[in-house]
Amino acid sequence: MGQREVERAQIICRALKKTIPEPSVELNYSNALELMVATVLAAQSTDVKVNEVTAVLFKKYQHAADYVAVEAEELEKDIRSTGFYRQKAQNIRAAMAILIREYDGQVPKQMDALLGLPGIGRKSANVILGNVYGVPGVVVDTHVGRVSRRLGLTAETAPSKVEKVLAQLLPVEEWTAFGQRVVLHGRYVCKARKPRCDECVLMPHCDYFARQIAGA
Ligand code: SF4
Repeated sequence: MGQREVERAQIICRALKKTIPEPSVELNYSNALELMVATVLAAQSTDVKVNEVTAVLFKKYQHAADYVAVEAEELEKDIRSTGFYRQKAQNIRAAMAILIREYDGQVPKQMDALLGLPGIGRKSANVILGNVYGVPGVVVDTHVGRVSRRLGLTAETAPSKVEKVLAQLLPVEEWTAFGQRVVLHGRYVCKARKPRCDECVLMPHCDYFARQIAGA
């Protein structure tokens, strides 16, 4: 990785900053516990669906203990429409039991501790750390991976490797916002099936677009 790649990443970072000045997650939450539950529910679902469910869920379940106080079937029913509800309910209840046992019912602020919670991977952990605790991290989901590869920032496919490359290319203070901007860019502009290159501010810096123009 040379100076040229770093400069290019910074140009892309600045261009996205102009179009998405204040990125934020599209999941609704008011504290770390709610964001943790929302990220578990978001797997294989949409943020819109999760927000519909959590609008009711978070009124009923406000503390870690609330999730383990009910029968598993009741929580399953409450989250059913997000899909994979049995596994999600199991993960949420197991995670809450750990929070109660080891963290006084609070969501921990360390990556390693978060990764020890069922249903929480690096992507969710970075979402929680960056948005609630101000701990920098590059969120890498399917959108960030795809957009990064199309732009030519990396050829890696494993999310953890993409995260590592982006973290090396960008200054630490940009990590959280850059990841969130690329999530939104991938969701609404650089779509998986039909990227909207004609409307994309990153077009002049994009390897994928250059290849399309060259007819490759
Ligand atoms: S130019 Fe096209 S492929 Fe490249 S980032 Fe923009 S939308 Fe995606």
